[in-house]
Amino acid sequence: MIGSNADGRFAPSPTGPLHLGNLRTALLAWLFARSQRARFLVRVEDLDRSRVRPGVEEAQLDDLRALGLDWDGAVERQSERMELYEEAIARLDAAGALYPCYCTRAEIRASASAPHGIAAADRYPGTCRELTKAERAEREASGRPPALRVRVGGARIAFEDRLVGHYEDEVDDFVVRRNDGAPAYQLAVVVDDADQGVGEVVRGADLLDSTPRQVLLARMLGLPVPSYAHVPLVLGPDGRRLAKRHGAVTLADRAALGEDPEEMLAWMALSLGLAGPGERQAGFRRRAARALRPRPLAA
Ligand code: GLU
Repeated sequence: MIGSNADGRFAPSPTGPLHLGNLRTALLAWLFARSQRARFLVRVEDLDRSRVRPGVEEAQLDDLRALGLDWDGAVERQSERMELYEEAIARLDAAGALYPCYCTRAEIRASASAPHGIAAADRYPGTCRELTKAERAEREASGRPPALRVRVGGARIAFEDRLVGHYEDEVDDFVVRRNDGAPAYQLAVVVDDADQGVGEVVRGADLLDSTPRQVLLARMLGLPVPSYAHVPLVLGPDGRRLAKRHGAVTLADRAALGEDPEEMLAWMALSLGLAGPGERQAGFRRRAARALRPRPLAA
């Protein structure tokens, strides 16, 4: 099933300040939704407690406000939605779709490297998939708590991305609950988008290769699959993805140089081909709304 509504969202992780690339993605997600008069939601993805930094969430929301990117309803936080993830994990488990995995990252890297090359280094080689009872007991005895993986067995998943076009990849047995007990991003994002009624996922292209897993998980859970638009990342002058080391990359950095949020908005619109040089917010918003009105998806 393809998502049938245009409700969108921006889902930052409060682990560090948003840079202009993140904000450009947020702008595009907002435009996709608002140009279709759809809802736009903000969800804070704060499940990885070790990486959450105090004050960052508020600063991220302030940046969205400064750019005029408004949202509907209250901001949702993943850390307050644990029951939903637990319920989804329990359903997968009841269907026999999960197994405990005791491998460390280093072990996975080591067994996946050499013959398959770098692209395969993150793929799970299936070490714990068919453990005997005795083997499992032995690993339990080591005291290392297991993660939970989905038993996929190499399904090939394809989807049509609104910006990238056709994309497909093989899906490995991926983690849905980490070994520290936290639900994995892949699971939480699928559960949340469905629960919140998100029909269009507009996000950075760095997540393109996660999407086949998410499509598969949505299908396994009987949830609607949203449509996807993966936005090209903003690159620094060295051709690598924009980051702090490139200098003044946040709204606060730019403000310190005397550039206001509206100028930043104009820069983003220009870089998206949605505004001409020097054009300010009002003009590009109208044009963007026209340019982005999506054509109906093929069934
Ligand atoms: N929280 C993720 C990030 O900040 C985005 C997840 C998503 O948009 O699906 O990279």
